[in-house]
Amino acid sequence: MDKDTLQKKYFVQIILEWSSKYKRDFEWRKNRNPYRIFVAELLLKRTTSKAATRVFHEFITKYPDIFALADADIDGLKLIIKPIGLYEQRSKGLVRAARCLVNTFKGEFPRSKDQLLSIPHVGEYTAGCILSFGMGIPSPVVDSNVQRVLSRVFCSSVGDKPSIDSTIKLAQTLIPKGRHVDFNYALIDFGAVVCTYRGCYGDTCPLKDICDIYFMLKNHNE
Ligand code: SF4
Repeated sequence: MDKDTLQKKYFVQIILEWSSKYKRDFEWRKNRNPYRIFVAELLLKRTTSKAATRVFHEFITKYPDIFALADADIDGLKLIIKPIGLYEQRSKGLVRAARCLVNTFKGEFPRSKDQLLSIPHVGEYTAGCILSFGMGIPSPVVDSNVQRVLSRVFCSSVGDKPSIDSTIKLAQTLIPKGRHVDFNYALIDFGAVVCTYRGCYGDTCPLKDICDIYFMLKNHNE
């Protein structure tokens, strides 16, 4: 097995093992369906998981499906979303997307990424989440946290500032058969908790033995 293949193999093993101990628990990760994932991702845009957690339950209780959301009264929606900010844009965006789903797709989330991307406010990342977490279709899920982890660990092969497209391609090659949900959640959590924007976790990081940037920093400091 060549070096790149081995690095990928150990990366997947280590990240899944780490996640088995430290996986984060959010309400939208339970009873998953495309609608719950779609709502969670739109609420999570430009806010923290902690803030989104505060409104998710009430939101889903009041608007349990795409049809209820498409019919929502904007003022009622704003009241629920207000605690997480940007409530004007968020509420209009959610209803716009829901109406598109009802009018164009009869209320069914399409199973193709291109069709998901035609829905307002659904970008690459949200489409990946809906496919992987909501529909069980293996798909890469790359947000800025995941992009940071992959570009640090694999920077010898993808460079330290890879484009989103090349990172998505790399993520696609890493997805383990039958474990895409666990793997994608593991990557998201690892980028949010360990390999953060604040810098490298250092000697205690479980990925340090296979991480390109860790080796480069270490050699540079020696
Ligand atoms: S060793 Fe540092 S840079 Fe590499 S994955 Fe761990 S925290 Fe991130």
